[in-house]
Amino acid sequence: MKAPSFVVVIDADRCKACGQCIEYCPRGALAPAERMNRLGYHPVEVKYQDKCIGCQACVIMCPEAAIELYRRPVKSREVDAD
Ligand code: SF4
Ligand code: SF4
Repeated sequence: MKAPSFVVVIDADRCKACGQCIEYCPRGALAPAERMNRLGYHPVEVKYQDKCIGCQACVIMCPEAAIELYRRPVKSREVDAD
């Protein structure tokens, strides 16, 4: 299976569960976790990493600056395959 091109990292202990990132994600990649964080909220987690298109909407909308987005490095083997 092909690895996702983008990696979303959410700092669960900063999340206040406002839902902005979920609302603005065009791919439905994010969802509330069942567990609680230190603040007593159900933090958002990345449910479908492979759906992420790297649009940055979640990063921009998060009022707590809890989300970081990384582009996964392309391995030389994958470049050769193109
Ligand atoms: S970067 Fe865009 S597609 Fe990826 S999780 Fe955030 S809002 Fe969704
Ligand atoms: S926008 Fe930020 S604070 Fe709000 S639910 Fe998403 S990660 Fe949590």
